Amino acid sequence: MLHHRRSFLAASTAWTLLPYAAQSATAESAGNLHLAPFRFDVTPPMGHPCCGGWIKPVEVVDDPLEAIGVVLLGAGKPIVLCAVDWTGILNEAHVAWRTAIAEAAGTTPDRVAVHCVHQHNAPFACLEAEKLVAAQTDLQHIVFPDFHARCIDKARASVEKAIKNSVPISHVAMGSAAVERVASNRRLDRDAEGRVKSMRGSASSDARLIAMPEGLIDPLLRTVAFFNGTQKVASLHYYATHPMSYYADGRVTSDFVGLARKARQAEDATCHHVYFTGCAGNVAAGKYNNGTPKARADLTARMLAGLRASEERLNPVPVKSITWNTAEMLPTARIKPAVQELLASIANKALKGAARNRPAYEVAWARRLEKKIPIVVSALNVDGIRLLHLPAESFVQYQIRATSMVADGRVAVAAYGDGGPWYIPIKEEYPNGGYEVSVAFSDDSIDATMTAAMRRVLIG
Ligand SMILES: [Zn+2]
Repeated sequence: MLHHRRSFLAASTAWTLLPYAAQSATAESAGNLHLAPFRFDVTPPMGHPCCGGWIKPVEVVDDPLEAIGVVLLGAGKPIVLCAVDWTGILNEAHVAWRTAIAEAAGTTPDRVAVHCVHQHNAPFACLEAEKLVAAQTDLQHIVFPDFHARCIDKARASVEKAIKNSVPISHVAMGSAAVERVASNRRLDRDAEGRVKSMRGSASSDARLIAMPEGLIDPLLRTVAFFNGTQKVASLHYYATHPMSYYADGRVTSDFVGLARKARQAEDATCHHVYFTGCAGNVAAGKYNNGTPKARADLTARMLAGLRASEERLNPVPVKSITWNTAEMLPTARIKPAVQELLASIANKALKGAARNRPAYEVAWARRLEKKIPIVVSALNVDGIRLLHLPAESFVQYQIRATSMVADGRVAVAAYGDGGPWYIPIKEEYPNGGYEVSVAFSDDSIDATMTAAMRRVLIG
């Protein structure tokens, strides 16, 4: 288990020894916290698979996809936080992103948090799964490896360039506001034993499902902002919902959360806006979304209202200390059937679409665990404001649990980091079945493992 704690005040005397100091134009401001905002385009080319090849490939780009992040300098080795407008980045691909960005920033991969926003008309990158389906001449690809490699090159170049233009940071603030009529729980339709009968997905036209209550969600959108004096330099936003209004039509889009982020960026151009999706494994817009363009516009407007309201509640205070904690976890695979049978399914021409494609993701996860490549859970603590970084499609209960671990509840959660595990239900939900549990690649011991990792990085 790795466990790093560095105070930026304690580490400040080591500034001139840090690898990036030689490259940075701001090296003379020794001991000061700096922030380097970056963004680069990750829009897939025409014909690229969407959502890992389950749905129509790219035919049109309605609005481009971006990777957006910040590098924090002056708190020990650099820390990088990045949100990517993709469905997921899994296993080797996730390690590749963190390693390339770490090299560019002059830090280590455990200090780089890469998360997906989880739009579905977007790439879903698992390089091992791609190799398995590419060996079958009749299967659609999962991700184009050359496009993926180009995106990683862009990440490297973008981070290197950003560090040369970093700006001092003196203050930090956290705001929050409830988002109205967007998020709703997907798992409300249950039998007398509590088993899930049907999912209220991202869009719904079923009056019975729509009439059900919102169910368990985290209504708060949270913003953590960094300031240079009175100038707001970057706002990191966090909200837990699946981000899809409608998809599978070959039209690339950052969807309603990305469109809201872009609108906020346009109206507040001097600040760098980043949006992270929280623990939304069992949360989507189904109660409030009938999958029409009008519904997408309405959801975008409600998210934008949430972003604005959260930022109105920012009350900056001077930054005194920063720590970065990590904990590694190696869950137990829950592969059914065995890997040999999964490989047979991938090769079975009588099966269609996801029935041949999803086993490739499962095999990739099992092999990754055999190689003991851990998932890194991390938290940035800025004077008690905690940014928690979790993997994959974690259930919203983890986010609520995280806020309850800290006395003042000041925790902003980004999930959809390493996507290898697919869904991460809480232990009590495994017996209740439903779609999410059926595609959870780890057994229910992941609940205790991840909860311990969360506690370790949040409160030590
Ligand atoms: Zn999902």
